[in-house]
Amino acid sequence: MLTHPVVAPPAPPPLPLFPFVGERLWLDFVNTDAARHRGRSDALLSFEAFVRWLQSAGTLDAERCAVMRRRALQQPAGATAALLDASRVRGALRQLAEKGPRQDAVRDSALAEINRILGRSAGTRRVERRRDGTFARSFVPVGDAFGGLLIPIVESAADALVLGELTRVRRCAAEDCALVFFDGTRNGRRRWCDMATCGNRFKAARFRTRARQAAEN
Ligand SMILES: [Zn+2]
Repeated sequence: MLTHPVVAPPAPPPLPLFPFVGERLWLDFVNTDAARHRGRSDALLSFEAFVRWLQSAGTLDAERCAVMRRRALQQPAGATAALLDASRVRGALRQLAEKGPRQDAVRDSALAEINRILGRSAGTRRVERRRDGTFARSFVPVGDAFGGLLIPIVESAADALVLGELTRVRRCAAEDCALVFFDGTRNGRRRWCDMATCGNRFKAARFRTRARQAAEN
């Protein structure tokens, strides 16, 4: 997978609350449609929100975020189009996460979206040295100012297909939670997006039910 170098910004602005529980970039991106979740932000509500999410996901460093913000001011129509495109890709990837393992048609249309993005992007692949001395692959788009933003995300989804990971993609077992994640546990029995939230709520509910049953008996 190609990733952009992660360089710690000196003073990062406060970021909105985005969940990073997917263990895969593409699943974290899918989870940004979760405006309907408790206190979460939709990362595609505005171009600025999208840039912030890309930064918190580590695919854009502070410098490139600043470049994107400037370009969005210069080309507002382009930024809006990029946002719509991101939303379209996210929809296809949500379908892939939830139905991909069982439905050929869903896999095919996600594949078409992935290839549409990969095929459209022109740029330079590079290896860059991070400030801490480690190395990272990066992709520097040319031409379309916003064309490269979705590349790391669709690369991550492509990896999931290539590596056969779809059968390990799950939706949180909580009924009111639509977060998806990669189950990397050895026994393949991860049920919750997050033990601290959904897992705990379930345990508390089960405890209450048992306490009630005990009181009735
Ligand atoms: Zn959950």
